[in-house]
Amino acid sequence: MWRESSPVEEKPLNQWKYKHTTRTIRKRAMHILVVEDEQRLAYLLRRVLLEERHTVDLAHDGHTGLDLALSDTYDAVILDLMLPGIDGLELCRQLRAEHIMTPVLMLTARGAVEDRVTGLNVGADDYLTKPFAMEELLARVNALLRRRDRRFDETLQLSVGDLILDLVRHEARRDGHVIELTAKEFALLEYLMRHPGRVLTRTQIVDAVWRYDLDALSNVVDIYIHYLRDKIDQGFSHPLIKTVRGVGYKIEASNHPA
Ligand code: CA
Repeated sequence: MWRESSPVEEKPLNQWKYKHTTRTIRKRAMHILVVEDEQRLAYLLRRVLLEERHTVDLAHDGHTGLDLALSDTYDAVILDLMLPGIDGLELCRQLRAEHIMTPVLMLTARGAVEDRVTGLNVGADDYLTKPFAMEELLARVNALLRRRDRRFDETLQLSVGDLILDLVRHEARRDGHVIELTAKEFALLEYLMRHPGRVLTRTQIVDAVWRYDLDALSNVVDIYIHYLRDKIDQGFSHPLIKTVRGVGYKIEASNHPA
């Protein structure tokens, strides 16, 4: 249990590591946002998640948490209910209103049934009542990620206008013609097509597509957008990839020739 003088905190970190890496062979590292104003708990959560080889961002108030979550670059959000600024319920509600479907695990100190129901009603995927055991938290986070992966797997094709991305055959087709893409081009196009009509900043794109590639160049996004345009849009009167000056890029079908 996590408490003021939690025995969990004294537990050597290598015990966590041993336990969880032996049990689950998985797994690609996940990018997790923790929104928690109790700093000791926030840092403990980060430490435990880092041990699981996830990358972790921390926010200590609702507004910062919302700003970060709206970037839509996280695999999961661990969200405290009671927060300074806006609370967890409002944060989650706003996130869903923006159609950001990142899995959310809500933490509540109250434990009241109504809070849990409200949390789930505003779009949280699961909740956990404080105090909780770290093993339980990790199990819930992993369950969220598995559920999300299943949801992704079920989406076998993405389409924007006459462009189709086949996630099973790993190929793109526009107007019936197969387009050869490199792995990075495919990843970039998939990220754009998972957010049709939304402007994505260069930072968001780098985080999503080049996250662990420390050698990525500062203009890598522009270079790859250029490659993609050559393959996807060249020769078509209605380009799908749009530049939003000073902000980033988006993909959308429109009837207006650029
Ligand atoms: Ca709190």
